Amino acid sequence: EHFLKRIDAHDGQINSYITVTAERALKQADAADARLARDGAHLLTGIPLAQKDIFCTLGVRTSCASKMLDSFIAPYDATIVQKLHLDAGMVMLGKCNMDEFAMGSSNETSHYGAVKNPWDLERVPGGSSGGSVAAVAAGLAPVATATDTGGSIRQPASLTGLTGIKPTYGRVSRFGMIAFASSLDQAGVVARTAEDAAYVLQAMSGFDPLDSTSIERPVDDLVAGLGDSIKGLKIGLPKEYFADGLADGVRDKVMAAVKTLEGLGAVISEVSLPNSPLSVPTYYVVAPAEASSNLARFDGVRYGHRADGVKTLEQLYKRSRGEGFGAEVQRRIMVGTYVLSHGYYDAYYLQAQKVRKLIYEDFKRAFEGVDLLLGPTATDVAFRLGANADDPVAMYLNDIYTIAANLAGIPAMSVNCGFVDGLPVGLQLMGNFFSEAKLLNVAHQFQ
Ligand code: GLN
Repeated sequence: EHFLKRIDAHDGQINSYITVTAERALKQADAADARLARDGAHLLTGIPLAQKDIFCTLGVRTSCASKMLDSFIAPYDATIVQKLHLDAGMVMLGKCNMDEFAMGSSNETSHYGAVKNPWDLERVPGGSSGGSVAAVAAGLAPVATATDTGGSIRQPASLTGLTGIKPTYGRVSRFGMIAFASSLDQAGVVARTAEDAAYVLQAMSGFDPLDSTSIERPVDDLVAGLGDSIKGLKIGLPKEYFADGLADGVRDKVMAAVKTLEGLGAVISEVSLPNSPLSVPTYYVVAPAEASSNLARFDGVRYGHRADGVKTLEQLYKRSRGEGFGAEVQRRIMVGTYVLSHGYYDAYYLQAQKVRKLIYEDFKRAFEGVDLLLGPTATDVAFRLGANADDPVAMYLNDIYTIAANLAGIPAMSVNCGFVDGLPVGLQLMGNFFSEAKLLNVAHQFQ
């Protein structure tokens, strides 16, 4: 009730929810009370949570913030929805706003309108998980799910002062999470603290036979090690992440945080990830290629928007997709089909796959010498609404520090390390495969 009241009072200004499931939430809360009165309740039973509107929720609209899916009621639950609500007993407050099909870095491509940053309503909250972070930052949910294909958990967490973690690729099931770029997409959490994030991520993680890329491996305890000493932990600062283009205020806050960690006994050194400058161009070949294939299913026949008054099948496809998809999604589909076409495939897609391997090898080499990598999450604090809206390349460059982790499949997170002119600054931690507990413990040191 507390959160539903706050949503009622404040979300008109922030626009963090697409759908609020008030009635259902109160029913789930009653069921949680009953479960808590019996033995065997999960630690998270009864805790409210907001779901990014990319996860299928049985009987509840799942729009992916697209006109295409405005009327789509999911006929099944995503695995993570099942785990968090049915198994753990968390209460779903509603479905959060996002960039359309998770394509964007500012939450301005949503069919349901932009989301405002609670720290300054004239600024963006970041994207694509802008609704998830705005809801948590404004106290309209204690914790929210999010997804990260190229930075969509970490960059918005950075811009709103939260803690957000993208786990190792394959750690959390993608079943029921509407696909953008399948080899990059990972679900995760945004929360106020690393401790909150650890509890929820642990409950979401695990092998799922319904996702062919899910990894069969026991779930680590992400909570037990929080607060352990970091004495002797080797942290590398990739020099490419502190080069031109990084705002001075952000650099200062990140370096002050490095000093704090050094004071706690961490051993800091400089490392190099020489292929870093290639991560944005590589991603913007691989991600659109996969998106063009994944989004082929929205054809106006099987589900979603269907154009009226069409006479031929071709017209049905063209008009349904033309009306249902926004400009950024159409741009990605066109780029994706182009790089996959005969005659261009070798020059673009194949080349990008090769560079992706080199980016992975940079990390592999770095982790032979250090335990974790640390740098800024974003080049600057939150920008103004509309500032990058007409310039896709400027928008794409927002993800310059976050994209490489997705291309390599490694876990990464963002945690607040201070403020510049009243706006939050995030630092990014990246680790080797399955080092989530280590990352969360370092983030926990700041809290
Ligand atoms: N901003 C990036 C993009 O637009 C990443 C989005 C994401 O991680 N979902 O593709």
